[in-house]
Amino acid sequence: MKCPNCNLDLVSAVRHKIVVQSCPSCKGMWFQRQELEELEDEAFDFGEHDKGTLVPSSVPTASKCPECGAPLRRFQYRFYDLQMEFCENQHGYWLENDEDTRVLELMRQEEKDMQRTLRVDDRWAATLRRMRSGSLLERLRERFH
Ligand SMILES: [Zn+2]
Ligand SMILES: [Zn+2]
Repeated sequence: MKCPNCNLDLVSAVRHKIVVQSCPSCKGMWFQRQELEELEDEAFDFGEHDKGTLVPSSVPTASKCPECGAPLRRFQYRFYDLQMEFCENQHGYWLENDEDTRVLELMRQEEKDMQRTLRVDDRWAATLRRMRSGSLLERLRERFH
């Protein structure tokens, strides 16, 4: 496989415990479809449905897929300010140097945000339970009558 930027042969490299094809010159990395998911799961396993939209929209580029030669499309990763490229034939994703580390950071942030949301949900559920419980209604009635 050739680097979409430099046209050099890609070599195997281990990035965050995942074997990817990397360019010795520009340090770009080719992640096969499931490898990007493995990378995300390395930071935080969301389960399939909660991760949301990976590719909201994309534009064509002049780079070519290392596997099939189709033009890669550039997209904004999960609505973050991180751009990467993907093969529209579902072969994989092209990440520039250290963009994989950025993915991990974003996933860790996402995990924190999600935990925060869950905690808020818990509090809200507890409030609702209290509101529905007879004792609170009794107290409210006493106060307003
Ligand atoms: Zn390169
Ligand atoms: Zn392809």
